[in-house]
Amino acid sequence: MKYAEIFRMGKEALEEVGIAEADLDARLLLEAVCQTSRNDLLVHGDREVGKEQEEKYREWIGRRASRVPLQHITGVQEFMGLEFLVNEDVLIPRQDTEILVEEVLRELTDGSRILDLCTGSGCILLSLLHYSNGCEGTGSDISEKALAVAEENAERLGISAKFLCGDLFERVEGRYDFIVSNPPYIASGEIPGLMEEVRLHEPLSALDGHEDGLFFYRRITRECPDYLVRGGSLYLEIGWDQGNAVKGLMEESGFHEVRVTKDYAGLDRVVSGVWF
Ligand code: GLN
Repeated sequence: MKYAEIFRMGKEALEEVGIAEADLDARLLLEAVCQTSRNDLLVHGDREVGKEQEEKYREWIGRRASRVPLQHITGVQEFMGLEFLVNEDVLIPRQDTEILVEEVLRELTDGSRILDLCTGSGCILLSLLHYSNGCEGTGSDISEKALAVAEENAERLGISAKFLCGDLFERVEGRYDFIVSNPPYIASGEIPGLMEEVRLHEPLSALDGHEDGLFFYRRITRECPDYLVRGGSLYLEIGWDQGNAVKGLMEESGFHEVRVTKDYAGLDRVVSGVWF
């Protein structure tokens, strides 16, 4: 079958079952199977695709049609221009989270100590370490399986970082200049309404922020001062409607210069503050 034909077949199969971005997903899966780029569809659409690749593509399209996330099929997600391995044990890095990384990078000075709570795939911590000099990074997560992914990502990216398995600060020692986190923040009652890709394939423990979604923000803001140096900062990713609540929690815990930053969609995305 020709490249453009096999793409059309994949796209139609995904459209038929109502996959929102059928066109994009069909193309990205084909490119991952054939090791090609976007240009190939435009310029080399009439080249023949080998039998083996065609079979693999059909299988991948079948999995995507049954709502397996694209990233679980290809095994990777790009974040901050870096490639991260992902699987069912970690949250797939979201583009929105790049705002958090960019906000921290603005203030990060060489040689800082950084702690990332709920590190998951390690995408936040490893990006911060990649784009800075001489910083020391620790990632903590309650899931051993998630940490195995984070460790593999660190190795693939050639970044040295320390990973601890524990509940938030449980295994953390010493004080840090920057504490960052994108904790689970979806209210439990909203979970049944999530897309099937997220609800059935991403780890519930990475999503569920308990009754009102603020469970981890309460704990982090309360416990954080024991782990920050004077003048150290806390940066938290939040859901679009949690800006005021999390700002309030940080102020109650004695943080100064508490700020809510919006994402590119104009929605509240990051809350940060300084501890004196
Ligand atoms: N820190 C990871 C990320 O932002 C995981 C977040 C989580 O598990 N809630 O992708």
